[in-house]
Amino acid sequence: MPAIWFKDNENGFIDWCKAHEQGFVINARYKPGRKYLFLHKVSCRTFKRPFTGPSYSKFCSDSIDELLVEARREAGVRAFSHICKICTPLTTE
Ligand SMILES: [Zn+2]
Repeated sequence: MPAIWFKDNENGFIDWCKAHEQGFVINARYKPGRKYLFLHKVSCRTFKRPFTGPSYSKFCSDSIDELLVEARREAGVRAFSHICKICTPLTTE
């Protein structure tokens, strides 16, 4: 399933996270740019309100590969700018 972009949609983001506990999130600027595409697990405890505006937005997917597709489409990059060291999304535990 393609990634979903949550902008000005707090409840949509919260509901998605509840329904996709094993999913992944890119925290991006409200207008996504290559310098800030921060990959997290849904379960990461670092997210702060407001989640989806006016400063930040969130891309969500069950698949890191789909998030990379989105990063490429939105920012023209092949990699995330940051990988969270707290939730370590590239490890399975
Ligand atoms: Zn994290």
